[in-house]
Amino acid sequence: MSSKVVYMDNNATSAIDPLVFEEMKPFLTELYGNPSSIHTFGGQVAAHIEKAREQLAALLGASPSEIIFTSCGSESDNAAIASAVGICPKRDKIVTTKVEHPAVLNVVKEHERRGYRGALIPVDAKGRLDMKCAEELIDEDTALVSVMWANNETGNIYPVKELCALAHAKGALFHTDAVQAVGKVPMKLSEMDIDMLSLSGHKLHAPKGVGALYVRRGVRFRPYLIGGHQERGRRAGTENVASIVGLGKAAELSLAHLQDENTRVKAMRDKLENWFVANIPSVRVNGDPASRLPNTTNISFEYIEGESILMLMDVHGICASSGSACTTGSLEPSHVLRAMGVPYTSAHGAIRFSLSRFNHEDEIDFVIDKMPAIIKRLRDISPYWKK
Ligand code: PLP
Repeated sequence: MSSKVVYMDNNATSAIDPLVFEEMKPFLTELYGNPSSIHTFGGQVAAHIEKAREQLAALLGASPSEIIFTSCGSESDNAAIASAVGICPKRDKIVTTKVEHPAVLNVVKEHERRGYRGALIPVDAKGRLDMKCAEELIDEDTALVSVMWANNETGNIYPVKELCALAHAKGALFHTDAVQAVGKVPMKLSEMDIDMLSLSGHKLHAPKGVGALYVRRGVRFRPYLIGGHQERGRRAGTENVASIVGLGKAAELSLAHLQDENTRVKAMRDKLENWFVANIPSVRVNGDPASRLPNTTNISFEYIEGESILMLMDVHGICASSGSACTTGSLEPSHVLRAMGVPYTSAHGAIRFSLSRFNHEDEIDFVIDKMPAIIKRLRDISPYWKK
């Protein structure tokens, strides 16, 4: 096992930026007061939460009052869906996509068990949404349309503006799970009609266990966590101050690095992807190169197992993800690749590389140097590979 770590799994989670950690430290040590306290010692902390709200609002192009801090992306998704169906009791349909994260898909399934109807928009071979089908599915019974801004596995970016317009034309609310998009693509929510948007700190170099839900001004919202008056009565629970402060700083840094993400990071991703396509036989890129996050590539090395590839990469300290999920002991290709109709021989060998601003060109060269032997070794023992 190599002592060096080459981390290319940033869509799973990302490193806390050292500047974020510095900003958080006082709130984990001397400034431990409760922001709701009357005394100055506690009360002074509230101002730091408000500063974080402003920093996050600036990244989203939104107003600070539209931000509710939560514990994670999953909570934000749960809260958005619960609120939408709660305030539209006459509508019983939730429209989403086949390629959502389980934080939306499984919540919709749970609502189906409670009597709601879920409708899933299909995708084509590149993972692009069938917009004609979306238009047909969204109707006057629809309470909520929830479509992710960007897919965590392929990086595909979805036409949220058009989908939001389709939802509003039928009187439905529109939510987007932007957990993978925030900090990677520019956003100006004040110029869009999106009603609710979920994000998560640990995908943008803030700690795990903090997230936010954007709720556009004027949109009715029903709290998911009920209790105290925190977050202006919209999310109960004593604030996770240090992490909120960290998320604020991470948002400020993400805004400053947005250009770098879309130039240097994208160029590294392209170099890696193009090298694989040009130099290793039988590889395919899963996703839509015309509309994709700058940091993500999902590549199938056909006729071999993603898990085996990851294990051999691990020996060199290279971290990435596979396109399979372990269900009851057997490795099933991910629901995203299945929805795209990726053949089994490709889906099983899918590897997602997701970069960040902390990656460097020499790491790309390192991966390029190590991968051919890994792929050759596994293909040599694969019964499916035609030697
Ligand atoms: N939505 C998407 C698209 C994600 O990629 C993730 C995490 O991987 C989540 C939601 C859940 O976020 P969290 O881990 O903060 O609950």
